[in-house]
Amino acid sequence: MSKDAVLAMIKDEDIAYVDIRFTDPRGALQHVTMVADLVDEDFLEEGLMFDGSSIAGWKSIEASDMKLMPDTDSAYIDPFYAEKTLCLHCSVVEPDTGEAYERDPRGTAEKAEAYLKASGIGDASYFGPEAEFFIFDDVKYSVAPNKVSFEVDADHAAWNTDADFEMGNLGHRPTFKGGYFPVNPRDDGQDIRSEMLSTMKRIGMKVDKHHHEVATSQHELGLIFGSLTKQADELQKFKYIIHNVAHAYGRSATFMPKPIKGDNGSGMHVNMSIWKDGKPLFAGDKYADLSQEALYFIGGILTHAKALNAFTNPSTNSYKRLIPGFEAPVLRAYSARNRSGCVRIPWTESPKAKRVEARFPDPAANPYLCFSALLMAGLDGIKNKIDPGEAMDKNLYDLPPEELEGIPTVCGSLREAVEALKADHEFLLAGDVFTKSQIEGYLELKMDEVVAYEHTPHPVEYSLYYSC
Ligand code: GLU
Ligand code: MG
Ligand code: MG
Repeated sequence: MSKDAVLAMIKDEDIAYVDIRFTDPRGALQHVTMVADLVDEDFLEEGLMFDGSSIAGWKSIEASDMKLMPDTDSAYIDPFYAEKTLCLHCSVVEPDTGEAYERDPRGTAEKAEAYLKASGIGDASYFGPEAEFFIFDDVKYSVAPNKVSFEVDADHAAWNTDADFEMGNLGHRPTFKGGYFPVNPRDDGQDIRSEMLSTMKRIGMKVDKHHHEVATSQHELGLIFGSLTKQADELQKFKYIIHNVAHAYGRSATFMPKPIKGDNGSGMHVNMSIWKDGKPLFAGDKYADLSQEALYFIGGILTHAKALNAFTNPSTNSYKRLIPGFEAPVLRAYSARNRSGCVRIPWTESPKAKRVEARFPDPAANPYLCFSALLMAGLDGIKNKIDPGEAMDKNLYDLPPEELEGIPTVCGSLREAVEALKADHEFLLAGDVFTKSQIEGYLELKMDEVVAYEHTPHPVEYSLYYSC
Protein backbone atom coordinates (compact mmCIF):
# COMPACT_ATOMS: atom_id res chain seq x y z
CA MET A 1 0.00 0.00 0.00
CA SER A 2 1.41 3.40 -0.96
CA LYS A 3 1.79 6.24 1.57
CA ASP A 4 -1.13 8.03 -0.07
CA ALA A 5 -3.33 4.94 0.18
CA VAL A 6 -2.53 4.64 3.90
CA LEU A 7 -3.36 8.31 4.49
CA ALA A 8 -6.61 7.92 2.53
CA MET A 9 -7.46 4.81 4.56
CA ILE A 10 -6.93 6.69 7.84
CA LYS A 11 -9.48 9.29 6.67
CA ASP A 12 -11.98 7.05 4.87
CA GLU A 13 -12.13 4.39 7.55
CA ASP A 14 -12.18 6.79 10.48
CA ILE A 15 -9.02 5.36 11.98
CA ALA A 16 -8.53 6.69 15.52
CA TYR A 17 -4.99 5.42 16.21
CA VAL A 18 -1.94 4.18 14.35
CA ASP A 19 0.04 1.44 16.05
CA ILE A 20 3.73 1.52 15.23
CA ARG A 21 5.15 -2.02 15.63
CA PHE A 22 8.61 -3.48 15.53
CA THR A 23 10.36 -6.66 16.66
CA ASP A 24 13.17 -6.88 19.22
CA PRO A 25 16.13 -9.31 18.90
CA ARG A 26 14.36 -11.96 21.01
CA GLY A 27 11.44 -11.89 18.57
CA ALA A 28 8.90 -10.06 20.74
CA LEU A 29 6.59 -7.64 18.96
CA GLN A 30 6.72 -4.13 20.49
CA HIS A 31 4.41 -1.18 19.84
CA VAL A 32 3.70 2.48 20.42
CA THR A 33 0.36 4.04 19.55
CA MET A 34 0.00 7.41 17.76
CA VAL A 35 -3.12 9.55 17.57
CA ALA A 36 -4.14 9.12 13.92
CA ASP A 37 -4.56 12.89 13.29
CA LEU A 38 -0.81 13.26 13.71
CA VAL A 39 0.02 10.65 11.11
CA ASP A 40 0.51 12.65 7.93
CA GLU A 41 2.84 12.51 4.95
CA ASP A 42 5.73 13.97 6.95
CA PHE A 43 5.32 11.39 9.68
CA LEU A 44 5.38 8.51 7.18
CA GLU A 45 8.49 10.01 5.51
CA GLU A 46 10.39 10.91 8.66
CA GLY A 47 9.43 8.15 11.07
CA LEU A 48 9.23 8.21 14.85
CA MET A 49 12.08 8.70 17.34
CA PHE A 50 12.23 6.36 20.33
CA ASP A 51 14.57 5.27 23.09
CA GLY A 52 16.47 2.22 21.82
CA SER A 53 18.30 1.67 25.10
CA SER A 54 15.20 0.18 26.72
CA ILE A 55 15.03 -2.68 24.23
CA ALA A 56 17.07 -5.73 25.29
CA GLY A 57 20.18 -6.16 23.14
CA TRP A 58 20.03 -2.73 21.49
CA LYS A 59 21.79 0.59 22.09
CA SER A 60 23.44 1.72 25.28
CA ILE A 61 22.00 4.60 27.25
CA GLU A 62 24.66 7.02 25.93
CA ALA A 63 23.54 6.58 22.33
CA SER A 64 19.91 5.67 22.72
CA ASP A 65 18.09 7.71 20.04
CA MET A 66 16.70 5.60 17.23
CA LYS A 67 14.07 5.97 14.58
CA LEU A 68 11.16 3.72 13.56
CA MET A 69 10.42 3.85 9.83
CA PRO A 70 6.93 2.56 9.03
CA ASP A 71 6.54 0.23 6.05
CA THR A 72 3.20 1.26 4.55
CA ASP A 73 3.03 -2.04 2.64
CA SER A 74 2.49 -3.79 5.95
CA ALA A 75 -0.71 -1.88 6.90
CA TYR A 76 -3.57 -3.77 8.57
CA ILE A 77 -6.34 -2.94 11.00
CA ASP A 78 -5.90 -4.41 14.46
CA PRO A 79 -8.62 -7.02 15.00
CA PHE A 80 -8.71 -6.71 18.82
CA TYR A 81 -8.55 -3.07 19.91
CA ALA A 82 -11.82 -1.37 20.85
CA GLU A 83 -10.78 1.82 19.01
CA LYS A 84 -10.19 1.48 15.28
CA THR A 85 -6.41 1.23 14.93
CA LEU A 86 -4.21 0.86 11.87
CA CYS A 87 -0.97 -1.09 12.39
CA LEU A 88 2.29 -0.53 10.56
CA HIS A 89 5.35 -2.72 10.91
CA CYS A 90 8.60 -0.76 11.04
CA SER A 91 12.27 -1.14 10.44
CA VAL A 92 14.72 0.73 12.68
CA VAL A 93 17.17 3.28 11.29
CA GLU A 94 19.96 5.46 12.65
CA PRO A 95 18.48 8.96 13.05
CA ASP A 96 21.56 10.80 11.72
CA THR A 97 22.40 8.73 8.63
CA GLY A 98 19.05 7.07 7.88
CA GLU A 99 20.92 3.77 7.50
CA ALA A 100 19.44 0.50 8.77
CA TYR A 101 20.26 -0.07 12.46
CA GLU A 102 22.50 -3.13 12.36
CA ARG A 103 20.80 -4.92 15.26
CA ASP A 104 17.27 -4.49 13.89
CA PRO A 105 16.05 -7.99 12.90
CA ARG A 106 13.67 -6.64 10.26
CA GLY A 107 16.51 -4.65 8.71
CA THR A 108 18.59 -7.84 8.59
CA ALA A 109 15.77 -9.59 6.72
CA GLU A 110 15.62 -6.76 4.17
CA LYS A 111 19.38 -6.94 3.70
CA ALA A 112 19.23 -10.74 3.24
CA GLU A 113 16.71 -10.32 0.42
CA ALA A 114 18.90 -7.66 -1.23
CA TYR A 115 21.95 -9.92 -0.85
CA LEU A 116 20.18 -12.79 -2.65
CA LYS A 117 19.47 -10.50 -5.60
CA ALA A 118 22.99 -9.06 -5.65
CA SER A 119 24.49 -12.57 -5.57
CA GLY A 120 22.83 -13.36 -8.90
CA ILE A 121 21.73 -16.75 -7.53
CA GLY A 122 18.07 -15.77 -7.40
CA ASP A 123 15.74 -12.83 -7.25
CA ALA A 124 13.21 -14.02 -4.68
CA SER A 125 13.15 -16.40 -1.72
CA TYR A 126 9.95 -17.85 -0.30
CA PHE A 127 9.34 -19.04 3.22
CA GLY A 128 6.54 -21.23 4.53
CA PRO A 129 6.81 -21.56 8.33
CA GLU A 130 4.65 -24.09 10.20
CA ALA A 131 4.59 -22.81 13.77
CA GLU A 132 2.92 -25.24 16.16
CA PHE A 133 1.61 -24.19 19.55
CA PHE A 134 -0.23 -25.37 22.65
CA ILE A 135 -3.40 -23.94 24.10
CA PHE A 136 -3.65 -24.41 27.84
CA ASP A 137 -6.72 -24.03 29.90
CA ASP A 138 -5.64 -22.19 33.02
CA VAL A 139 -7.26 -24.58 35.47
CA LYS A 140 -7.02 -27.90 33.70
CA TYR A 141 -3.55 -27.81 32.24
CA SER A 142 -1.33 -25.32 33.93
CA VAL A 143 -0.63 -27.80 36.70
CA ALA A 144 0.37 -30.59 34.35
CA PRO A 145 3.94 -29.81 33.32
CA ASN A 146 5.16 -29.36 36.88
CA LYS A 147 3.12 -32.04 38.54
CA VAL A 148 3.99 -34.90 36.24
CA SER A 149 6.81 -36.81 37.88
CA PHE A 150 10.12 -36.87 36.06
CA GLU A 151 10.22 -40.66 36.38
CA VAL A 152 7.06 -41.18 34.39
CA ASP A 153 7.68 -41.57 30.73
CA ALA A 154 5.40 -41.09 27.74
CA ASP A 155 3.07 -44.04 27.02
CA HIS A 156 0.19 -42.17 28.60
CA ALA A 157 1.45 -43.22 32.01
CA ALA A 158 1.88 -39.60 32.97
CA TRP A 159 -1.84 -39.34 33.49
CA ASN A 160 -1.59 -41.77 36.39
CA THR A 161 -0.04 -39.19 38.60
CA ASP A 162 -1.44 -36.77 41.13
CA ALA A 163 -1.98 -34.33 38.30
CA ASP A 164 -4.75 -36.61 37.07
CA PHE A 165 -6.98 -35.88 39.98
CA GLU A 166 -6.40 -32.18 39.97
CA MET A 167 -7.15 -32.01 36.28
CA GLY A 168 -10.61 -33.54 36.52
CA ASN A 169 -12.24 -35.83 33.99
CA LEU A 170 -9.83 -36.50 31.15
CA GLY A 171 -12.17 -38.91 29.38
CA HIS A 172 -12.28 -36.95 26.13
CA ARG A 173 -8.71 -35.67 26.15
CA PRO A 174 -6.25 -37.00 23.59
CA THR A 175 -3.59 -39.06 25.33
CA PHE A 176 0.10 -38.23 24.94
CA LYS A 177 0.92 -38.28 21.22
CA GLY A 178 -2.73 -39.15 20.52
CA GLY A 179 -4.05 -35.86 19.21
CA TYR A 180 -3.75 -36.27 15.42
CA PHE A 181 -6.70 -35.88 14.12
CA PRO A 182 -9.69 -37.00 16.28
CA VAL A 183 -12.92 -34.96 15.97
CA ASN A 184 -14.53 -33.16 18.90
CA PRO A 185 -15.07 -33.62 21.79
CA ARG A 186 -11.55 -35.11 21.91
CA ASP A 187 -10.41 -32.17 19.80
CA ASP A 188 -11.66 -29.32 21.95
CA GLY A 189 -9.95 -26.62 19.88
CA GLN A 190 -12.16 -26.47 16.77
CA ASP A 191 -13.95 -23.19 17.50
CA ILE A 192 -10.95 -21.38 18.89
CA ARG A 193 -8.77 -22.40 15.91
CA SER A 194 -11.49 -21.44 13.41
CA GLU A 195 -11.78 -18.07 15.08
CA MET A 196 -8.00 -17.61 14.89
CA LEU A 197 -8.00 -18.43 11.19
CA SER A 198 -11.04 -16.19 10.46
CA THR A 199 -9.38 -13.31 12.31
CA MET A 200 -6.27 -13.76 10.16
CA LYS A 201 -8.38 -13.82 6.99
CA ARG A 202 -10.21 -10.67 8.06
CA ILE A 203 -6.98 -8.71 8.16
CA GLY A 204 -5.90 -10.01 4.77
CA MET A 205 -3.56 -12.83 5.78
CA LYS A 206 -3.31 -15.86 3.49
CA VAL A 207 -4.14 -19.02 5.43
CA ASP A 208 -5.34 -22.46 4.40
CA LYS A 209 -6.27 -24.89 7.18
CA HIS A 210 -6.12 -25.75 10.85
CA HIS A 211 -5.94 -28.94 12.88
CA HIS A 212 -5.17 -30.52 16.23
CA GLU A 213 -1.54 -31.66 16.36
CA VAL A 214 -0.10 -34.86 17.76
CA ALA A 215 0.43 -33.75 21.38
CA THR A 216 -2.31 -33.17 23.91
CA SER A 217 -3.61 -29.56 23.50
CA GLN A 218 -1.27 -28.93 20.57
CA HIS A 219 -2.48 -27.17 17.44
CA GLU A 220 -1.38 -25.97 14.02
CA LEU A 221 -2.75 -23.38 11.59
CA GLY A 222 -1.55 -23.19 8.00
CA LEU A 223 -0.03 -19.96 6.74
CA ILE A 224 0.57 -19.71 2.96
CA PHE A 225 4.20 -19.05 2.01
CA GLY A 226 5.53 -15.56 1.17
CA SER A 227 8.75 -13.62 0.58
CA LEU A 228 11.26 -13.36 3.45
CA THR A 229 10.60 -10.02 5.22
CA LYS A 230 6.89 -10.05 4.44
CA GLN A 231 6.54 -13.59 5.72
CA ALA A 232 8.34 -12.74 8.96
CA ASP A 233 5.83 -9.87 9.37
CA GLU A 234 3.05 -12.39 8.74
CA LEU A 235 4.42 -14.72 11.39
CA GLN A 236 4.46 -11.91 13.94
CA LYS A 237 0.78 -11.24 13.13
CA PHE A 238 0.07 -14.99 13.25
CA LYS A 239 1.47 -15.27 16.78
CA TYR A 240 -0.21 -12.05 17.91
CA ILE A 241 -3.61 -13.29 16.75
CA ILE A 242 -3.17 -16.75 18.24
CA HIS A 243 -2.18 -15.28 21.62
CA ASN A 244 -5.04 -12.79 21.65
CA VAL A 245 -7.83 -15.09 20.47
CA ALA A 246 -6.77 -17.65 23.09
CA HIS A 247 -6.73 -14.85 25.68
CA ALA A 248 -10.25 -13.79 24.67
CA TYR A 249 -11.40 -17.37 25.34
CA GLY A 250 -9.89 -17.21 28.82
CA ARG A 251 -7.11 -19.59 27.77
CA SER A 252 -3.49 -19.11 26.92
CA ALA A 253 -1.50 -20.10 23.85
CA THR A 254 2.23 -20.80 24.01
CA PHE A 255 4.87 -21.21 21.32
CA MET A 256 7.34 -22.52 23.90
CA PRO A 257 9.02 -25.43 22.11
CA LYS A 258 8.62 -28.14 24.76
CA PRO A 259 6.04 -27.31 27.41
CA ILE A 260 5.26 -30.94 28.38
CA LYS A 261 7.73 -33.70 29.07
CA GLY A 262 6.95 -36.99 27.34
CA ASP A 263 4.81 -35.50 24.58
CA ASN A 264 5.71 -33.91 21.22
CA GLY A 265 7.08 -30.40 21.32
CA SER A 266 6.25 -27.51 18.99
CA GLY A 267 8.38 -27.10 15.92
CA MET A 268 8.40 -24.40 13.29
CA HIS A 269 9.35 -26.24 10.13
CA VAL A 270 10.52 -23.73 7.56
CA ASN A 271 9.80 -24.53 3.90
CA MET A 272 12.08 -22.63 1.55
CA SER A 273 12.55 -22.07 -2.15
CA ILE A 274 14.45 -19.65 -4.37
CA TRP A 275 13.22 -18.36 -7.71
CA LYS A 276 15.17 -16.75 -10.54
CA ASP A 277 13.68 -15.08 -13.63
CA GLY A 278 10.24 -16.43 -12.74
CA LYS A 279 11.49 -20.04 -12.51
CA PRO A 280 11.87 -22.30 -9.45
CA LEU A 281 15.58 -22.83 -8.82
CA PHE A 282 15.09 -25.90 -6.62
CA ALA A 283 13.30 -28.14 -9.18
CA GLY A 284 15.55 -30.47 -11.18
CA ASP A 285 16.51 -34.04 -11.98
CA LYS A 286 18.63 -34.98 -8.99
CA TYR A 287 17.55 -36.80 -5.78
CA ALA A 288 13.83 -36.24 -5.05
CA ASP A 289 13.55 -34.10 -8.22
CA LEU A 290 15.76 -31.44 -6.72
CA SER A 291 18.23 -29.31 -8.67
CA GLN A 292 21.98 -29.30 -7.95
CA GLU A 293 21.52 -25.81 -6.40
CA ALA A 294 18.90 -27.20 -4.00
CA LEU A 295 21.29 -29.98 -2.93
CA TYR A 296 24.06 -27.43 -2.31
CA PHE A 297 21.55 -25.28 -0.41
CA ILE A 298 20.82 -28.31 1.82
CA GLY A 299 24.59 -28.84 2.18
CA GLY A 300 24.92 -25.28 3.50
CA ILE A 301 22.08 -25.73 5.98
CA LEU A 302 23.44 -29.03 7.31
CA THR A 303 27.02 -27.72 7.54
CA HIS A 304 26.05 -24.58 9.46
CA ALA A 305 23.19 -26.17 11.42
CA LYS A 306 24.88 -25.86 14.82
CA ALA A 307 25.51 -22.14 14.36
CA LEU A 308 22.01 -21.72 12.94
CA ASN A 309 20.61 -23.28 16.12
CA ALA A 310 21.36 -20.05 17.99
CA PHE A 311 18.77 -18.35 15.76
CA THR A 312 16.45 -21.21 14.84
CA ASN A 313 16.29 -22.72 18.36
CA PRO A 314 17.08 -19.72 20.54
CA SER A 315 15.74 -20.79 23.95
CA THR A 316 17.07 -23.08 26.65
CA ASN A 317 13.78 -24.95 26.30
CA SER A 318 14.38 -25.53 22.55
CA TYR A 319 16.84 -28.34 23.30
CA LYS A 320 14.25 -30.31 25.26
CA ARG A 321 12.39 -30.67 21.96
CA LEU A 322 15.41 -31.72 19.87
CA ILE A 323 15.55 -35.27 21.24
CA PRO A 324 14.74 -38.59 19.53
CA GLY A 325 11.24 -40.01 19.48
CA PHE A 326 9.03 -36.93 19.19
CA GLU A 327 9.04 -36.13 15.43
CA ALA A 328 11.73 -33.50 16.03
CA PRO A 329 15.10 -33.96 14.36
CA VAL A 330 18.43 -34.61 16.02
CA LEU A 331 20.70 -35.79 13.24
CA ARG A 332 22.07 -33.54 10.55
CA ALA A 333 20.78 -35.57 7.64
CA TYR A 334 18.28 -35.05 4.83
CA SER A 335 15.66 -37.20 3.19
CA ALA A 336 12.60 -37.10 0.97
CA ARG A 337 10.86 -39.60 3.16
CA ASN A 338 11.44 -39.62 6.85
CA ARG A 339 10.70 -36.82 9.27
CA SER A 340 13.47 -37.62 11.69
CA GLY A 341 16.27 -35.73 9.88
CA CYS A 342 17.01 -32.00 9.91
CA VAL A 343 15.95 -31.46 6.32
CA ARG A 344 13.07 -33.09 4.46
CA ILE A 345 11.97 -32.69 0.87
CA PRO A 346 8.17 -32.74 0.97
CA TRP A 347 6.64 -34.75 -1.86
CA THR A 348 5.11 -32.71 -4.67
CA GLU A 349 4.45 -33.30 -8.35
CA SER A 350 4.71 -29.64 -9.21
CA PRO A 351 8.17 -28.16 -9.90
CA LYS A 352 6.75 -24.82 -8.73
CA ALA A 353 6.07 -26.27 -5.29
CA LYS A 354 9.52 -27.89 -4.99
CA ARG A 355 10.95 -26.81 -1.67
CA VAL A 356 13.30 -27.74 1.11
CA GLU A 357 11.89 -28.10 4.64
CA ALA A 358 14.20 -27.34 7.58
CA ARG A 359 12.65 -29.28 10.47
CA PHE A 360 14.85 -28.21 13.35
CA PRO A 361 13.65 -24.58 13.82
CA ASP A 362 11.08 -23.90 16.52
CA PRO A 363 8.56 -21.13 17.09
CA ALA A 364 10.63 -19.43 19.81
CA ALA A 365 12.78 -18.13 16.95
CA ASN A 366 12.78 -14.51 15.88
CA PRO A 367 11.37 -15.06 12.36
CA TYR A 368 13.39 -12.26 10.73
CA LEU A 369 16.69 -13.61 12.05
CA CYS A 370 15.72 -17.27 11.61
CA PHE A 371 14.74 -16.94 7.93
CA SER A 372 17.70 -14.66 7.15
CA ALA A 373 20.21 -17.03 8.78
CA LEU A 374 18.73 -20.07 6.98
CA LEU A 375 18.91 -18.25 3.65
CA MET A 376 22.51 -17.18 4.26
CA ALA A 377 23.53 -20.76 5.16
CA GLY A 378 21.83 -22.13 2.04
CA LEU A 379 23.41 -19.47 -0.19
CA ASP A 380 26.80 -20.25 1.32
CA GLY A 381 26.16 -23.88 0.33
CA ILE A 382 25.37 -22.87 -3.26
CA LYS A 383 28.34 -20.49 -3.54
CA ASN A 384 30.81 -23.02 -2.16
CA LYS A 385 29.18 -26.08 -3.73
CA ILE A 386 28.77 -27.82 -0.36
CA ASP A 387 27.85 -31.46 -1.00
CA PRO A 388 25.14 -32.62 1.45
CA GLY A 389 26.28 -36.27 1.10
CA GLU A 390 23.87 -39.16 0.55
CA ALA A 391 20.24 -38.85 1.62
CA MET A 392 19.27 -40.93 4.67
CA ASP A 393 16.01 -42.67 3.84
CA LYS A 394 15.82 -44.71 7.05
CA ASN A 395 14.03 -43.79 10.24
CA LEU A 396 16.92 -42.14 12.00
CA TYR A 397 15.40 -42.76 15.44
CA ASP A 398 15.70 -46.52 14.87
CA LEU A 399 19.30 -46.65 13.66
CA PRO A 400 21.58 -48.93 15.70
CA PRO A 401 24.40 -47.13 17.55
CA GLU A 402 27.05 -48.27 15.05
CA GLU A 403 25.15 -46.63 12.16
CA LEU A 404 24.54 -43.48 14.18
CA GLU A 405 28.23 -42.99 14.69
CA GLY A 406 29.60 -40.40 12.36
CA ILE A 407 26.25 -38.72 11.62
CA PRO A 408 26.57 -35.20 13.02
CA THR A 409 23.85 -33.84 15.28
CA VAL A 410 22.29 -30.48 16.06
CA CYS A 411 23.26 -28.74 19.31
CA GLY A 412 22.23 -30.25 22.62
CA SER A 413 21.88 -26.99 24.52
CA LEU A 414 21.63 -23.24 24.05
CA ARG A 415 25.13 -22.94 25.51
CA GLU A 416 26.44 -25.19 22.74
CA ALA A 417 24.55 -23.16 20.12
CA VAL A 418 26.06 -19.92 21.45
CA GLU A 419 29.54 -21.48 21.21
CA ALA A 420 28.78 -22.78 17.70
CA LEU A 421 27.66 -19.36 16.46
CA LYS A 422 30.71 -17.75 18.03
CA ALA A 423 32.92 -20.14 16.03
CA ASP A 424 30.98 -20.16 12.75
CA HIS A 425 29.41 -16.90 11.55
CA GLU A 426 31.43 -15.77 8.51
CA PHE A 427 28.62 -17.02 6.24
CA LEU A 428 26.23 -14.57 7.94
CA LEU A 429 28.51 -11.56 7.42
CA ALA A 430 28.53 -11.83 3.60
CA GLY A 431 27.14 -8.64 2.06
CA ASP A 432 26.95 -7.13 5.58
CA VAL A 433 23.61 -8.89 6.04
CA PHE A 434 24.47 -9.65 9.67
CA THR A 435 27.27 -7.66 11.33
CA LYS A 436 29.89 -8.70 13.88
CA SER A 437 28.56 -6.29 16.48
CA GLN A 438 25.01 -7.55 15.95
CA ILE A 439 26.12 -11.14 16.47
CA GLU A 440 28.12 -10.16 19.57
CA GLY A 441 25.06 -8.39 21.01
CA TYR A 442 22.86 -11.37 20.23
CA LEU A 443 25.33 -13.81 21.81
CA GLU A 444 25.42 -11.70 24.98
CA LEU A 445 21.64 -11.72 25.16
CA LYS A 446 21.50 -15.49 24.73
CA MET A 447 24.35 -16.09 27.19
CA ASP A 448 22.35 -14.17 29.83
CA GLU A 449 19.50 -16.64 29.26
CA VAL A 450 21.89 -19.61 29.51
CA VAL A 451 23.32 -18.34 32.80
CA ALA A 452 19.89 -17.56 34.26
CA TYR A 453 18.80 -21.09 33.40
CA GLU A 454 21.94 -22.84 34.59
CA HIS A 455 21.93 -20.96 37.90
CA THR A 456 18.33 -21.87 38.72
CA PRO A 457 17.57 -25.02 40.75
CA HIS A 458 15.29 -27.31 38.68
CA PRO A 459 12.29 -29.37 39.91
CA VAL A 460 14.05 -32.53 38.70
CA GLU A 461 16.96 -31.71 41.02
CA TYR A 462 14.56 -31.55 43.95
CA SER A 463 13.20 -34.99 43.04
CA LEU A 464 16.68 -36.46 42.65
CA TYR A 465 18.70 -34.77 45.35
CA TYR A 466 16.54 -33.18 48.00
CA SER A 467 16.62 -36.21 50.29
CA CYS A 468 20.19 -37.25 49.63
N1 GLU B 1 5.78 -31.46 16.51
C1 GLU B 1 6.81 -31.96 15.65
C2 GLU B 1 8.11 -31.15 15.88
O1 GLU B 1 8.46 -30.90 16.98
C3 GLU B 1 6.44 -31.92 14.20
C4 GLU B 1 5.20 -32.68 13.82
C5 GLU B 1 4.90 -32.55 12.32
O2 GLU B 1 5.57 -33.19 11.51
O3 GLU B 1 4.06 -31.73 11.98
O4 GLU B 1 8.82 -30.78 14.99
MG1 MG C 1 2.91 -30.05 12.45
MG1 MG D 1 6.17 -29.92 8.17
